[in-house]
Amino acid sequence: MPYLSQSHPIADWKKVWWTQAIKMLTEHWTANNIFCPSCWSALMKHKIDKPVNDLFCRECSEDFELKSSKWKLWKIIPWWAYDVMIKQMIEKPMHLFVLKYAPDYTINNFLVVPKYFFIPGIIQKRNISRVKQKNWKVRLWTWWNILFHKIPESWKIHYIREWSYKTRTEILNEWNRVRFLEKEKQESKWWIFDMMKCIEKLNKENFSLEEMYSFENELRKIYPQNNNIKPKIRQQLQFLRDRNYLEFLWWGKYKVL
Ligand SMILES: [Zn+2]
Repeated sequence: MPYLSQSHPIADWKKVWWTQAIKMLTEHWTANNIFCPSCWSALMKHKIDKPVNDLFCRECSEDFELKSSKWKLWKIIPWWAYDVMIKQMIEKPMHLFVLKYAPDYTINNFLVVPKYFFIPGIIQKRNISRVKQKNWKVRLWTWWNILFHKIPESWKIHYIREWSYKTRTEILNEWNRVRFLEKEKQESKWWIFDMMKCIEKLNKENFSLEEMYSFENELRKIYPQNNNIKPKIRQQLQFLRDRNYLEFLWWGKYKVL
């Protein structure tokens, strides 16, 4: 059972804020226990603390941001430093790690969301607040949210789910399954996103085209300018089939891979 409190990178507990201590502990635990989902190499912590981007892979130099929570898995992830994040996402996007620990400090969930989830609409700008920095200077930060519940479940790749560990093969398979999104244009991602969400709502291994058509009205509300929702659904299913996300069984029947 992984315990967060087993790792003690903090020399003097009295000198750090509680939230800071949790950040240090979770980063330390992740760097020592989690491998890069892209190449399975070890992760390292950045030497300097930055508002975004906590860890990186030594091998493929992918960047990761870590968010942790004690209570339940986030519906909405609150964040700060909006401007810094936008700049970072344009220059070098990073993947998102989400760690959840129980009140006894055992880690019960750990997952990664690949960086391609950062699309306009998934980020919600919030209020501005004054934040005291280490040197006691006050800086204004714009807070923002990630609408975590809007991200399809298949993009949330678990290492640990309810205390149960996934194998390396399971993690890498799931990672590679959605990797095709890396090459897709931002504007086409929303449709892929919505199609995946619809398929997840059906919650079936096999489903029919008719069942997907039942989302027509729902999708029309999202895309009011589109007068050809049904053909678009068919086109998107074909797209997902070509990317090995789905299998075409026979006429009008699909299987989730
Ligand atoms: Zn890597």
